[in-house]
Formats: sequence, structure tokens, C-alpha cells
Amino acid sequence: MKFGTKVIHAGIEPDSATGAIMTPIYQTSTFAQQAPGVHKGFEYARSKNPTRSVLEANIAALENGTEGFCFGSGLAAMDAIFRLLNPGDEVISTNDLYGGSYRQMMKVHARYGVKSQFISMNKPKNIEKKINKNTKLIWVETPTNPMLNIIDIKAICKIARKHKIMVAVDNTFASPYLQTPLDLGADIIMHSATKYLGGHSDVVHGCVVVKERKLAEEMRFIQNAVGAVPGPQDCFLVLRGIKTLHLRVERSCKNAEKIAKYLLRHPKVANVYYPGLENHPNHAIAKKQMRHFGGMVSFDLKSDTVADANKVLSNTHLFTLAESLGGVESLIGHPATMTHGSIPRKERMKVGLTDSLMRLSVGVEDVTDLLKDLERALVNV
Ligand SMILES: *Cc1c(COP(=O)(O)O)cnc(C)c1O
Repeated sequence: MKFGTKVIHAGIEPDSATGAIMTPIYQTSTFAQQAPGVHKGFEYARSKNPTRSVLEANIAALENGTEGFCFGSGLAAMDAIFRLLNPGDEVISTNDLYGGSYRQMMKVHARYGVKSQFISMNKPKNIEKKINKNTKLIWVETPTNPMLNIIDIKAICKIARKHKIMVAVDNTFASPYLQTPLDLGADIIMHSATKYLGGHSDVVHGCVVVKERKLAEEMRFIQNAVGAVPGPQDCFLVLRGIKTLHLRVERSCKNAEKIAKYLLRHPKVANVYYPGLENHPNHAIAKKQMRHFGGMVSFDLKSDTVADANKVLSNTHLFTLAESLGGVESLIGHPATMTHGSIPRKERMKVGLTDSLMRLSVGVEDVTDLLKDLERALVNV
């Protein structure tokens, strides 16, 4: 099955009890048993819920994995992956990553003896120097946030395989429509389904997908034993969002490309970060590893002041000033004061995260209106 068919059909059948075309929201905590241990595959909804099971099968198919696991948020999904590790184990992670992921590694898992170190993975070889006998997991996020660097997943997995280290990829920014890391050698992928999978900014949700059977058994155990599972209503919303994933992401990518090219020519704009631009340092890897270049664009101003960034941020009307990404509506954010406010200025300047850097999550609106919105806002600088 091709991707555009999978989003609608993979793992999804009309409801066996009623024929309902849409997967019903099985809002129940428990299930009747015919005799002790004799049941229809469902006993208690933390362990297994029919609405959730359909979504798990669907997302597993989209990522070309064997089993999927749903969680109450992206960070709960990440936490479940980290529970595969033991005290003393070490993690090597992308240095340019989602702030909440960094916080979880440093402030939660570190307390239980799992140490994480953060490196630039622009050159995969850099990893080799950091590997030791305790290294058990490599954590990759690509495209990165907010600088939109692209990491060569295949090259990282090749090194990891040699050292028998697991690779987990946070696939939130790309979505499975643009890249499927399990096909490139990764062991685990995770999503904040809050973003592109849900796609309508109406649900917080997370997923994990794996390929290997033993890993699947471990994840299933952790999901049930820890219990950070989503409710069936949230699973329904993600299932509904996924049905148009390919259409939404395709339109976002097309819009983002036009916006990136427009910003590149704008006299007040200094730098534009978009993997689809030929001058992007990782353009070649992006072309090889992704189907299109994504819906996220970052840029900064020649004047590079927070005050001028604020003039743009408070004068857009279609681009709403907000955190998060991946919804049908366009958003604009200011990493230096919003998502990345806790990083010291000197550190963030080193990676290009300047005072005026703004990040766009380009939605699926008509691009003519989006361009006009930016034009009107940039006049104020
Ligand atoms: C939002 C996000 C997360 C966290 O997901 P939640 O659903 O907010 O818990 C993790 N990684 C990336 C890349 C994200 O954008």
C-alpha cells in the first residue's frame, strides 16, 4: 500500500459490531469476560483499548514498523523509551533538540543514573569519539529545532550498529510522510503526535514505533506497567488527523518553500534556514533522506534586535504568535524568548540562534495571504 492509502486504511476496518466506518471511541475502562480469562482480546483499558489499538496499528504501518505504542504526550513516549535503559547506561544526543527532551534527560533520567551528553551530529563521525562501553542509546532529532539542521540518519545508524547501540529518532518535525527512519536503520521512532500527526492543534499525544519483536515486547510491558496511556477520545482525534497527513504536509511544504524563497530576497532579512534551499548546509542529505523539505522555516533580521523581532511578531495576523507546530494554521514563534529562553545567550548565538530569530510553522492556508501577512509585518522593522 502507498502512503496516501495507508493513512486512511492501514489497520482500520469498519467496526465489527456495528459497521461504523469511523473507528468508535470506546470510552470504557473495562470489558466483560465470558468466563475468567475468556474474553474478546480486551480486559482492562490501560493494557489495551480498541480505539488505541487501531491507531497503534495505523502508525506502525506509516513508519514501516511492526508495532506502535500510544502515550499521553510526546514526552511520555520519550520517557517510555528511556525506561529501556538501566542506571549507568549512557545516551548520546543531538545538541540542537526540543527543550522538553533536554529537560527530561537532564532533570529526570540523570537522577536515575542515566547520563546524556549532547553533541553536534552534523558530522556523524563526531559520535564515534563519544562512544564508550556504557553507551546504549543514540538520540537523534532531525530536522532540528529551531535551526533546521538535517542529520544523516543512515550514517549514524551505521556507526551505532557497529557498536551495538540502539538509535531512537524523534520524527516529530518530519512526520512519516517525509521520512521513515526505521527504513534507514533506526531501532525506535517517537512522535509528539500533538504536532503533524494530530495536525489540528486539538490534542496532546505521543507515539513510539519499533520493528524488532523483542523490543516491541519490552515497550508493550513498559506501556502497561507505567501506564502513561492516552484516552480513547485523544486516539480518535489523532486517527482522524492522520487521514489527511499527506495532504496537509504536502501543502505545508509547498507553502514553506515559497515563503523561504520570499524571505531570502527580502531586504530586511539576514538569514533564512530551510533545508529545501540550495544554500542550506545539509541540503544534499535532506534531499536524500526526506520526501520534501518540511513546513518549518526559521529566519532572522539584519538589524538583529529583540525589539525588531517583536515588531514582526506582533504585526502578523494569520501567523499566530504561539508555541507548538504542525497544525493546519500557521504559527510564528521567537525561540530566544519562548522555547529556548533557558539557553544562555552566548550558547545560542554560537549555533545561529540570534536575538531576532523567528520560527514559522507554515500551515495549509493560501500562500498568497501568508506572504502578504509577512510583508505587512516586515514593513514595521
Ligand atoms: C513537542 C515536541 C515534543 C514533546 O511532545 P509533547 O507532545 O509536547 O509532550 C518532543 N519532540 C519534539 C521535536 C517536539 O516538537
